[in-house]
Amino acid sequence: MKLFSYLKVSGNPEVAVLEAAGKNGAHYIAGGTNLIDLMKDDVMSPAHLIDVNDISCGDIEKLPGGGVKIGALVRNSDLANDPYIRQNYPVLSRALLSAASAQLRNMATVGGNLMQRTRCSYFYDVAGACNKRQPGSGCPAIEGYNRMHSILGASNKCIAAHPSDMCVALAALDAVIHTKGPSGERKIKMADFHKLPGSTPEIETMLAPAELITAVELPAVGFNKNWCYLKVRDRASYAFALVSAATCLEISGGKIKSARIALGGIAPKPWRSVEAEKLLIGKTPDEATFRAAAEAALKSAKGYEHNKFKIEMSKRTIVRALKVAAGGVA
Ligand SMILES: Cc1cc2nc3c(=O)[nH]c(=O)nc-3n(C[C@H](O)[C@H](O)[C@H](O)COP(=O)(O)OP(=O)(O)OC[C@H]3O[C@@H](n4cnc5c(N)ncnc54)[C@H](O)[C@@H]3O)c2cc1C
Repeated sequence: MKLFSYLKVSGNPEVAVLEAAGKNGAHYIAGGTNLIDLMKDDVMSPAHLIDVNDISCGDIEKLPGGGVKIGALVRNSDLANDPYIRQNYPVLSRALLSAASAQLRNMATVGGNLMQRTRCSYFYDVAGACNKRQPGSGCPAIEGYNRMHSILGASNKCIAAHPSDMCVALAALDAVIHTKGPSGERKIKMADFHKLPGSTPEIETMLAPAELITAVELPAVGFNKNWCYLKVRDRASYAFALVSAATCLEISGGKIKSARIALGGIAPKPWRSVEAEKLLIGKTPDEATFRAAAEAALKSAKGYEHNKFKIEMSKRTIVRALKVAAGGVA
């Protein structure tokens, strides 16, 4: 049995608590739907846990100039079903509802979802090597069974994929993450929040030790007319994405004025494809244009033995998600 200390904090956590957490390497726990599994499987063994379920980060607050601030402790179900979010940021609501199961979504929080770890089976297999779990030990997935792994943004140290659906929508919506740590508060753009593995796959985000996510801010533009979240997976529910796409369009006078394309299940972080978006601007929303954008999005893709199929699957997912978004029927 592995012993760990447990502390529950409430209200607005004081800097002293965060400082102590930084010094003793404590981990925060929210819904526990990921961390507890990882502890049970010995993948993570934090010596200190700080329960943040009672901190005052549980609200969804409309911002005066437009936009919304979502507390880090808002449950995935509450966020997906919030009338304001459904009306103004439907792509986020749909992405959340495509994830996990109703019971899990009732527990899972915004902060925990942002920080959830990969589902790479080698990461979970503590009897074997994994550079993410044990730096320098190797990446058996590269030559192993890599069907669920990355085709974009991977490195020769790690090809694990990021599993979140919510984060794909947040990437498309240009979310900003609010944090509080021992050295103060800061805001981190979603595009910068998760890191590519490079030579340090164990470092997954920009967060410093003991830095706490307090909220996620969404800008006023929510693309509530022309949007789609399409998740391709092995089962119709309760399965992680093989490929997912969040697409958002602004169409005026028969031409695309602005576009967002973010992908999930195919990269170590939620993957925004700015090159593909640029190709769409000023064009007529038709199949040829969408296919050109999909080709651009996957231009640097690299498949491994068991996941090469994801390259064409990703392109088709993008084309279909753009068609649905353009039709305004999602
Ligand atoms: C069977 C199963 C199926 C699933 N299917 C899907 C799916 O299809 N799509 C999908 O997107 N997800 C899926 N999930 C993952 C699920 O969405 C995550 O487990 C959940 O979002 C994590 O949130 P949590 O609050 O429970 O996090 P916890 O387990 O409490 O914490 C996870 C991590 O986040 C850190 N953390 C938590 N809150 C904060 C904070 N405020 N600041 C800083 N760090 C913090 C913790 O320290 C920990 O490292 C599935 C999970 C399971 C178990």
